[in-house]
Amino acid sequence: MKFSKILGYRVFAGSKEELFEYLDTFEKVNIISGNPEVLYNGMKDSELYSIFTGGSSVIIPDGVGTVLASRIAGSPVKEKLAGIEVMQGIIESCAEEGQGIYLIGAKEEVVSACAEKLKLKYPGLNIMGWHNGYFDIDSCGEIISDIKEKKPKAVFVAMGSPRQDRFILKYMDELPCRIFMGVGGSFDVMSGNIQRAPEWMIKIGMEWLYRVSREPWRLKRLSSIPKFLTAVLLHREG
Ligand code: UDP
Repeated sequence: MKFSKILGYRVFAGSKEELFEYLDTFEKVNIISGNPEVLYNGMKDSELYSIFTGGSSVIIPDGVGTVLASRIAGSPVKEKLAGIEVMQGIIESCAEEGQGIYLIGAKEEVVSACAEKLKLKYPGLNIMGWHNGYFDIDSCGEIISDIKEKKPKAVFVAMGSPRQDRFILKYMDELPCRIFMGVGGSFDVMSGNIQRAPEWMIKIGMEWLYRVSREPWRLKRLSSIPKFLTAVLLHREG
């Protein structure tokens, strides 16, 4: 398997098909959508860094910034792997296999609308349960018991980073599930609450610009892209 080494992170460098084959080799896996903001935050937080670099984590190059970073680092990834598309691929195979999924995150009306939309799109899909993302991570026994009882194959956690990563770290070992994935704002998109950028913008790597135009508060978060790229550049030179 091919990986790109970016600032100590091991980022999956193959195609989407190769990723799914690779994921099948894990007994339990935590898929990290490695966009520059997430990876930059990981560099400043030792707990996050150890989650992202842990043996059961697979970082995918989510975003043009990470693709660019892999080129600067001298080990380019094959293609961008958008977290939402990887999530959809996993859902599709769960629907085909008759395996269950569980959704945690976003506002109540968003996660329930997301579940409804998914049921319509994948009629065979078994959505075993869902919960909004506004609860105390350290005291959520009912949610954990429900997942334990239902045993979904995949748990998608849409609470933004680092909250979703901390939740997965805390409960991954005790939950009888194979795939864990933090999916940020994906439930908002899948529920129809927020539109994803048009295909042509995604293709030319301008999805981030579309998101900022729709949600201007994201502008501040974009500052981590140049910081991350500069760190990669300095690391290469150093
Ligand atoms: N969210 C949540 N619980 C919280 C804070 C946020 O469930 O305590 C949800 C929020 O409703 C939204 C998502 O997390 O659906 C935000 O993800 P964000 O847009 O930050 O992720 P990105 O897509 O940028 O990684």
